Amino acid sequence: MITIAPPQRLRLDSAALVSNWRWLAKASGAAACGAAIKADGYGLGAREVMKRLAAAGCRDFFVATWAEAAALMPLPAGTALSVLHGVGASDMVAALTLPVRPVLNSVEQVARWRAAGEGRACDVMVDTGMGRLGLTAAEATGGALAGLAVATLLSHLASADEESAQNARQLAAFHAVRDAVPAQRYSLANSAGICLGADYGFDLTRPGIALYGGLPRPEAAGHIRQVAFPEARVLQVREVAAGETVGYGATWTASAPARIAVANIGYADGYLRCHGGGTGSACWQGRVLPVVGRVSMDLTAFDVGDAAIGEGDWLTLDYNLPKVSARCGLSQYELLTGLGARFGRDWR
Ligand SMILES: *Cc1c(COP(=O)(O)O)cnc(C)c1O
Repeated sequence: MITIAPPQRLRLDSAALVSNWRWLAKASGAAACGAAIKADGYGLGAREVMKRLAAAGCRDFFVATWAEAAALMPLPAGTALSVLHGVGASDMVAALTLPVRPVLNSVEQVARWRAAGEGRACDVMVDTGMGRLGLTAAEATGGALAGLAVATLLSHLASADEESAQNARQLAAFHAVRDAVPAQRYSLANSAGICLGADYGFDLTRPGIALYGGLPRPEAAGHIRQVAFPEARVLQVREVAAGETVGYGATWTASAPARIAVANIGYADGYLRCHGGGTGSACWQGRVLPVVGRVSMDLTAFDVGDAAIGEGDWLTLDYNLPKVSARCGLSQYELLTGLGARFGRDWR
């Protein structure tokens, strides 16, 4: 067997990840601070994220699916894992095999868990306005959960990243549910919800995006550090004469003699076409290199000017999440979860 290094790398800053969790834990007030690590830790690698956050003191983790949960076995000592999609009929084998709690999302799932869950603990999601998953507040307070061993009762904020009256309405609705439904713990806030203040903390918070360098609300500015730095490699540097074009559709024409580095990254890696046409850029030894022309499937061209860049050099893409999101229109979540399988995940 030969070992082939990944063609691109996603440089990942362990210290920044832990620092972000510590800030979120502090901002969570008296509540414990968990972590959403669904979608493979928002694309960074759930196992590696979990290991680092567990070592920092994080105890409560959330994934979306049972397949994601199974891939995290064995769990780090002292941690608990919950599956946000709950239990469908085809999930019961996994749910009874893995040391993981389902988050029950409907009266059907509650009935399934009562019938076949062997009395094990579960979490429950109640919808207070998200309109996505969860029992209605009327169902939850009307006896649907009577006698169930609920570890954590959750709800999820729909507009926590905005100045919306919906936040206070959901907070009030969650208080009403809490007063009526017994559970060991109550949990409402995601990253943006934590920034809304200690009132939203309850017993447990569930940040995701802010752990990974996303800015959920302005209150977190200056506290959240970038964690993920995509890097691509130069395949060749070309001299382009004035009047010549670069890339599909010939959308870029050199107005003067130019030097263009062609790097081994494209939309198949999640570096989408919205970064083309001079909006995106890379950095090399402190110099900013704008994207020229269209992003292709596996290649992107950068104007390197007179920088002494050559074949094999690594370029760091501009991937400051709030900034790039504002510029290209993709959400901070899409920017992270879109990063593909060709990147080596390189934790430092
Ligand atoms: C994804 C998710 C979170 C984390 O949300 P962020 O906005 O990434 O902080 C928390 N709770 C639930 C139910 C989720 O689905």
